[in-house]
Amino acid sequence: MAEITLEQAKRRQLRGLPSVDELLQKLSSLEGIGERSRRRMVESIREVLERLRRSILQADTLSRLNDIDLSEGHLLQEVEGQVARQEAPSLRRVINATGIILHTNLGRALLPQAALENLVAIGKYYSNLEYDLLSGERGSRHSHVEELMRRLTGAEAALSVNNNAAAVLLSLDTLAQGQEVIVSRGQLVEIGGSFRIPDIMKKSGARLVEVGTTNKTRMEDYRAAITPETALLLKVHTSNFRVVGFTAEASREELVELGRQHQLPVMEDLGSGNFIDLARYGLAAEPTVQEVVRAGVDLVTFSGDKLLGGPQAGVILGRQDLIGRIKKNPLTRALRIDKLTLAALESTLRLYLDEEVAIQQIPTLRMLTASPQAVEKRCKALLRKTQRLNGRRIAENRYPLEVLILDEHSQAGGGSLPLELLPTKVLALRSPTASSETLERLFRANEPPILGRLQKDFLYLDLRTVQEEEEVELLQAIERVAQELG
Ligand SMILES: *Cc1c(COP(=O)(O)O)cnc(C)c1O
Repeated sequence: MAEITLEQAKRRQLRGLPSVDELLQKLSSLEGIGERSRRRMVESIREVLERLRRSILQADTLSRLNDIDLSEGHLLQEVEGQVARQEAPSLRRVINATGIILHTNLGRALLPQAALENLVAIGKYYSNLEYDLLSGERGSRHSHVEELMRRLTGAEAALSVNNNAAAVLLSLDTLAQGQEVIVSRGQLVEIGGSFRIPDIMKKSGARLVEVGTTNKTRMEDYRAAITPETALLLKVHTSNFRVVGFTAEASREELVELGRQHQLPVMEDLGSGNFIDLARYGLAAEPTVQEVVRAGVDLVTFSGDKLLGGPQAGVILGRQDLIGRIKKNPLTRALRIDKLTLAALESTLRLYLDEEVAIQQIPTLRMLTASPQAVEKRCKALLRKTQRLNGRRIAENRYPLEVLILDEHSQAGGGSLPLELLPTKVLALRSPTASSETLERLFRANEPPILGRLQKDFLYLDLRTVQEEEEVELLQAIERVAQELG
């Protein structure tokens, strides 16, 4: 028998490929995928067939050509995969096993259940967003949270906008456009790569007057910088770093006193909005919004989705007359808060009316205050489950994953509590046959993707940031990865 050439073999394989119609018929009878729209299936089938044709044509040896899987089962699977990829949204959920609670790249705060429910209701139906149900007249979207904010913080008035960067921009634009704002050099922070106080200041048309040095700024430095052009004294919370050692900053009280003497408003950008004394839960003391208001600061700004644990939003609160001016600034319209955000923000704030409820129901606070013992208990339960599922292979030394429980630290993240390392326990995974980078990649390729922390030979999975209902998926992923490693 004459040996066939590569070209002949290629032609034979190309001829053997099923037609779009044949595949479509087969798929239509399958459960799940069969119910998809015809157009989408045809598109996916075409793409899969095109890919196969290309790999057949590109094969440069007979053995490479023969490696191409043309079985019907494989083809159908490929099409299913293609349909799924086409339908999958780009923005999707992941499991955060990094132990960083307010992970900026993974969406910062998780919303409390109450906020989610309200958000769905407000999204699905009409609402009294800007309608006063008592008078039957036009209302203000700000009214829904203003009273709550006043109750929670003691401030005279409040306003919420799109995010805290917008809150700062809007406040500076309203109070200090074309004038001077005095800030300590030690507080000229950059947050998350793109929020820089000096840049925001420039955009607002305010002129920055830096005083003091990186590690020391005294009351006298502020006093000496005050001119007739001064509009505002600004204090910025150094969210994501601390100057340690030989340092000095003018206190909040001193600044307020100086402001009073010169009839200048004092503004504090807190970054994280925090209503609860975290020291009571064994965490580093962070200033609470109430504390800052009580100290007499005229305007306070903070984020909705850092320690506050709500949706991305910015809150401005403080003196009635200043908030009144901000509300009238045309820029406020451009930076206004969306109704879904507002719904989630209001529900989150309501939880704070009872501190115990807040700690239990706001995921950020729940994760922050979880004890290492509680995390360890969950690790142990998960470990026991994998051991039960794989007892035989583990006993015979054929299980390709080693799973340990190690002491580690979680982090608050999001520029909150920068130096605070929260003792935790992690599941530490190691494979005798694969690198930790491979493990990391396999977990990242999971559905849903699971993101952990690489640590030398190990992949760490910190259950502090994994929600309890996600543990099943984590267990399945461990099983899947073990299977892939053989
Ligand atoms: C995070 C932060 C901001 C920006 O807040 P966003 O809600 O991310 O816009 C501004 N100032 C400080 C001090 C911060 O920590």
